[in-house]
Amino acid sequence: ELVLDTAYFRRWLAAAHRLFERDSARLTALDAAIGDGDHGANMVRGFQAVTAGVVQTPQACPGDLLTQAGTTLTNSVGGASGPLFGMALRRTGKRLGAEPAVSAEQFAAALRAGAQAVGKLGGAVPGDATLLDALLPALDVLDRELAAGATVLGALEAARAAALDGADATGPMQASKGRASYLGERSIGHQDAGANSVVLLFEALTMAAD
Ligand code: ADP
Ligand code: MG
Ligand code: MG
Repeated sequence: ELVLDTAYFRRWLAAAHRLFERDSARLTALDAAIGDGDHGANMVRGFQAVTAGVVQTPQACPGDLLTQAGTTLTNSVGGASGPLFGMALRRTGKRLGAEPAVSAEQFAAALRAGAQAVGKLGGAVPGDATLLDALLPALDVLDRELAAGATVLGALEAARAAALDGADATGPMQASKGRASYLGERSIGHQDAGANSVVLLFEALTMAAD
């Protein structure tokens, strides 16, 4: 069974960095349609700084690693996504505390606390066409699968699929938060870029398993 230790979360951050590099142009194109076209570059810059920080200042437990990663994201990305994803990771890390390894249930609960902190910081609710429209359904499925006795990897794969469905579902939504909200009804028909970044973060969680 997959062990969620510091090495696992280091692999997660490294995999996320690779996926943001891979999909940077697609994320930027999504943001260009209804925002300012910098989301891909923002996530690449942020995760570049995160992976550099992992090497420069190694942390001994998952909680400290994710707290540091969150602070780095907030400090290295100028756009809205930096402080929002940064808050999510920082709060997740704080919740994990100083344990050398955590259970999937502990990680899921910590991610939930991170999502709640994002909602509080940005004021978005489900249906506003933000990253929360991918993150919250993914966390619901993660909880459900773990409660049903799925393997950790199976639950993470199901959560990734739910994030993808959630990101697709932002297409017909009208954006009510962030730059896309300036377009009003003209934001309808375009997927949210940050929701697509959430899909990559869950994909990275499954990649880090091996
Ligand atoms: P910026 O809009 O400052 O250029 P990015 O393009 O990097 O920043 O990120 C935009 C993404 O941030 C959006 O696609 C959306 O998912 C997310 N976002 C923006 N504002 C909010 C908010 N208030 N609450 C939640 N997510 C938000
Ligand atoms: Mg932008
Ligand atoms: Mg911007």
